Amino acid sequence: MTTPIQHLLRPNIRQLKPYASARSEFSGTAQAWLDANENSFGSGLHRYPDPLQWAVKERIASIRGIAGERIFLGNGSDEVIDLLIRCFCEPGTDNILIFPPTYGMYEVAAQINNVAVTEMQLTKDFRIDSARALATAGAGTKLIFVCSPNNPTGNSIDRSTIVELLEGFGGIVVVDEAYTDFAPGSSVLDLCKKYERLVVLQTLSKAWGLAGLRVGMAFGCLELIAVLNKVKPPYNIGQASQQLALQALGSEAFLQESIANILAERNRLEQALPEFSFVRRLYPSDTNFILVQVADANGLYAFLTERGIIVRNRSSMPLCSNCLRITVGRPEENDALLHQLKQYGYV
Ligand SMILES: *Cc1c(COP(=O)(O)O)cnc(C)c1O
Repeated sequence: MTTPIQHLLRPNIRQLKPYASARSEFSGTAQAWLDANENSFGSGLHRYPDPLQWAVKERIASIRGIAGERIFLGNGSDEVIDLLIRCFCEPGTDNILIFPPTYGMYEVAAQINNVAVTEMQLTKDFRIDSARALATAGAGTKLIFVCSPNNPTGNSIDRSTIVELLEGFGGIVVVDEAYTDFAPGSSVLDLCKKYERLVVLQTLSKAWGLAGLRVGMAFGCLELIAVLNKVKPPYNIGQASQQLALQALGSEAFLQESIANILAERNRLEQALPEFSFVRRLYPSDTNFILVQVADANGLYAFLTERGIIVRNRSSMPLCSNCLRITVGRPEENDALLHQLKQYGYV
């Protein structure tokens, strides 16, 4: 009997026999590790790392309240996005459904894999019309990517919308929660227990402050996580990254403190920005950035760039005309931004 996950997989992936190292066939303490051509005289990092990163996963499991076997770790969530497309979408045949304006990597990863992208715009108030989405998803649609809270719009997608997609769509629903820690209550992680076709992505790159480390997480049913483990490069997370991730995950106090700092600074910017005559609209944010509509986004973007203040110009994205996406920085960075905005106001 084929399970729904097996049925959705590309046939070559369903049949794939994974790479097996001698070490994955042995567990215990050995007297001599002579199997992997490592340099035993080496540096402290001379051994290949744990391919399944159990220490890190156990820590994440206890923080998120989910079994370690339901966690997959990628070299950033970007690796997980690519792996999901590679596992489920037959190049040249299948497609993914995305809701622009949204995170750019879904489309790029699909294009790299020669997988078509079906686009359905968010509504004007940045919601997903689930009935229309279900009608838009075709026979070849294997994955729906929902970004919540969404980048660059900053809002969360209603849980009921995600449930409607899960109930009505036969493929995999991927919910990218890179910013969920900034919006307590926004996560749908608990729904993984009920829906085996739900994958939730989170990352250490945003609230955890570890973008340089490149560690992203996927949460899902045992079967789907096993598929990702089978397809990933065996040692996709280096030993140094595993050690540093474990260390960082040890301090939830740091996480909470940095979230509080960012939210306080976001609030300060949200108070200050509407005072400028050229600011037309501020979109409510569940994230560590603010989408701002201004009179002339290209002009303001150029002005700020010339003065060393780098923001993201999103004005060419659908529903984002004249919009800049501003990441909440440290107080002195936000001060520098506000200072330059004052100068611009006098131009
Ligand atoms: C920043 C971001 C990520 C993070 O990707 P990593 O590869 O984990 O750094 C994922 N999704 C969205 C929507 C993002 O904005």
